[in-house]
Amino acid sequence: AATSADEVAATIFAEMSALASRTGAINLGQGFPDVDGPDAIKAAAIRAIERGDNQYPPGPGIAELRTAVAAHQRRHYGLDVDPESEVLVTTGATEALASAVLALTGPGDEVITLEPFYDAHAAVIALAGATHVPVALAPTPGGFRLDVAALREAASPRTRMLLINSPHNPTGTVLTRAELDAVAAVARECDAIVVTDEVYEHLTFDGAVHVPLASLPGMADRTLTVSSSGKTFSLTGWKIGWVHGPAALVTAVRTVKQFLTYVSGAPFQPAIAQALADDDAPRALAESLAARRDLLCEGLRAAGFDVVVPQGTYFVVADASAIVARHGLADGVELARRLPELAGVVAIPMAAFCRAGSPTSERLRDALRFTFVKREDTLREAVSRLRTLA
Ligand code: PMP
Ligand code: GLN
Repeated sequence: AATSADEVAATIFAEMSALASRTGAINLGQGFPDVDGPDAIKAAAIRAIERGDNQYPPGPGIAELRTAVAAHQRRHYGLDVDPESEVLVTTGATEALASAVLALTGPGDEVITLEPFYDAHAAVIALAGATHVPVALAPTPGGFRLDVAALREAASPRTRMLLINSPHNPTGTVLTRAELDAVAAVARECDAIVVTDEVYEHLTFDGAVHVPLASLPGMADRTLTVSSSGKTFSLTGWKIGWVHGPAALVTAVRTVKQFLTYVSGAPFQPAIAQALADDDAPRALAESLAARRDLLCEGLRAAGFDVVVPQGTYFVVADASAIVARHGLADGVELARRLPELAGVVAIPMAAFCRAGSPTSERLRDALRFTFVKREDTLREAVSRLRTLA
């Protein structure tokens, strides 16, 4: 099948970060922290370089990191993972997702995702030549919630995979147990694989609880769980991720991974193995992020945005219909392009996370995604600039 140029074009994050550096605007677009992760983890990577961890590491990842991933999954979620056969270290969650979708789907297969979706989810489905079937997370008084009826309708005998994401980028939704049960039921009915992107697993607020899909009864057998150290430890540039699941599925993913990158960053692996043993840094990050979320949400409201308060992640979705109308703009895409000049701030238009013309993209046509994983003084300055829009 031909790959759609629309789905595999330059990423919106690159375009918007370039806009920020060209204009000097505050970049609340791409989600990356402006404070690096803990010094002790950085020191561990430096030690690894100095002691000579500088050549190709083992293909599945070093044993120490695979063991740390398994121990983390047991400690947090009671999951039983064999570090030898059921864990693969990857170059970020991105490579785990790409390898899983390329290994397990192809032309004629349907892959269900949530919509809005993280842009790489759509891109790797297109690269695999599979058919993307998005299902809405619909705005409700309780935030963006899974449309369970739409999910059931989307299921078909061709459904090969459900590619879900919780805590969810861009909406900040943490899927409830009932929503996950609905995903599990459809997966069982269609005899489909679930790939679950849990990179924000530790970044939840107000007591929202992250439930890994693999922990639901009977689901570990058909689930690949993807996560990464980037978000948990504020080290997004290190690109150390992992995937775990049944040995046969992990072997299939590894077959593709070995021809994408072969292996992943040698000196970072022992450092992340050490980091994974310590739960304090992610807990402190989640707490400070909740306060920064509140600061940004309040500021966006004061600037005339309609905000859906996120339960997790780095991001908030803000509807700008009133601002779009007041400034005579076409939609959120035009607002995002003009925002540096209007207010000295960069954000991502929600259209980037939707299929063109879908009901979800219509609903979110005037909405933008802002990140709050920035220092408080940066957020305060951004918020005061945005007030000029009101
Ligand atoms: N999945 C989601 C939902 C994300 O937001 C991101 C961005 N960090 C990734 C995957 C990619 O993670 P990594 O940087 O580890 O490849
Ligand atoms: N996951 C981050 C975001 O959504 C960064 C994505 C990227 O740069 N590919 O902003």
